[in-house]
Formats: sequence, structure tokens, C-alpha cells
Amino acid sequence: MGPVGNDVRNILTVDLEEWFHVCGVGGRLAAENWDRLPTRVEHTTQFVLDMLDRASVRATFFVVGWVAERHPRLIESVRAAGHEIGSHGFSHRRAHDLGPRAFREDLRKSLRALSDVDIPSVTMFRAPEWSINNRSLWALETLVEEGIRVDASMAPLRMVGEPSYPRYPHIRETAAGPITEVPPLVADRFSQVMPLGWGWGLRMSSPRRVIRTIEAVNRAGLPAVLTIHPWEVDPDPPRVPLPPALYFAHYFRLGGFRERLRDVLAGAAFGRIGDMARVSSIA
Ligand SMILES: [Zn+2]
Repeated sequence: MGPVGNDVRNILTVDLEEWFHVCGVGGRLAAENWDRLPTRVEHTTQFVLDMLDRASVRATFFVVGWVAERHPRLIESVRAAGHEIGSHGFSHRRAHDLGPRAFREDLRKSLRALSDVDIPSVTMFRAPEWSINNRSLWALETLVEEGIRVDASMAPLRMVGEPSYPRYPHIRETAAGPITEVPPLVADRFSQVMPLGWGWGLRMSSPRRVIRTIEAVNRAGLPAVLTIHPWEVDPDPPRVPLPPALYFAHYFRLGGFRERLRDVLAGAAFGRIGDMARVSSIA
């Protein structure tokens, strides 16, 4: 598993989903209620698109099929702005909750939903909640069998993945062939691994700290991978009761994140996954 991508370009990814796409919760946020919840995704994604346009950044958007089905014009806006589109599953469920058969069906359904909005030949994937881990490594082979060449679902972090996973893009061999794995940026702090490139870790960190870390990664000839969600730039997100870990992951330090994100985007060079030299030759 050698490192991939020596062009020292960083990667920005966007998980295009609704504010209520939270894994593993029922009640008000259960899938059968989604069509009755207030939609925010068009407004918040447009904010992200405008921000990326001003920063001259083209990103990789992992789109939830359920969203593509309901907001075809939004997906067209993303594509027309020069962003790259991958799948974030159809029903936003974790790979290890779905199991092998339902995972494949959900993946196929997401690819059909993207094809129906004129995004054919999708070759990139991210599982909801970084859910390709030791409980679901079979999913990598399924992805290759279904035409996926790049996966970005394995976090080198406890809770959702394993700290021992490689931290930078690399090739993984499966029985169906190779797949390029593109992990998100983590950093060591107080002898813990923290998600510096996404979620609460990115939201709580000062732009200066994030940029300094990215620069150190780049000096080693490697790309840093950041991930954002449209709901994180929502100035007035609907809030619902969640278990403490999920509450933290979803709501901690949203205030001022738009401005901090703008400063991070201005402080380093970001592009799409497909812009990485060796990924382009594989995908
Ligand atoms: Zn997601």
C-alpha cells in the first residue's frame, strides 16, 4: 500500500445530504419521516457553492441518492460549477448496518438516482459515517464490482474507524481488483487522534491551526483531505434531541464556522479527488 498523489494538492469533499440525515437514530428523524421534515439542502448547498466559487475551489461532492431524486436541479448546479460527483449511498445508512446484500442494493439505487439526473459513470463513493471499517471490509470488494474505483469511507480514528488505518491516499487490493482509498485528515493532539479535517475537529479548530497542519502534510509530499456538510453552514439549523456523541458531532461549534471555513479555503490549495495524479490514472 504505497502512498498516492505527490502533487501536494489538498482535497475538499462535500457530503451532500439533509440536516436530518443522521445515522442510527429513529423517532422524528427516522427515514419514513424524511419527506415531512423541512428541507434545507438547496439553500445550504447554494451557500457552499457560492463560497467555493469565491474561493475558486472545485470539490468532490458525495451525493445522497435520496437527495438527488428530490432535487435534480441542485445536482445539476453542482455539476455545472465544475465539481466532481460521487455517491454517498441512497438511504444514508451505515455499511455495517445494511450488511452485504442491502449495501449492494443501496449502492445500485444511489447510482441509478445519479444516472437519472444525468450523472452517469460514477466511480467514487463515501459511506455514511465513515462506515467502512473492520465490521464491513467486504464492502470494498462490492464497490469494485459495481464500478467504484475510489473510496473515501475509512477514517483513521477510533469510534468510526481504526487509528491504525493509513492516513493518506493509498491502494487497497480486493478480490475484485484494486481500489484507491482516500482517508480524511486527522491530527495527533494530547495523545489522541482527532478529526482535524471534518466534523467537530474542523469546526473547533482555528483556521491558522488547520492551515499549519495542512502545510506540514504538504511538506511531506502528501495531500490533506477535508470534508464539510451543507448543514454545517446553516445559520439556523433545526435542532433535535440526539444521543450525546451524535449531538456533539452535529451541533458542536457551528457558530462562526462559515467564516472559519472561508479562511481555511483561502489558506491552502484545494481540488477534487480526481485531480490527484495517480487517482486520475486509476479511476
Ligand atoms: Zn453523511
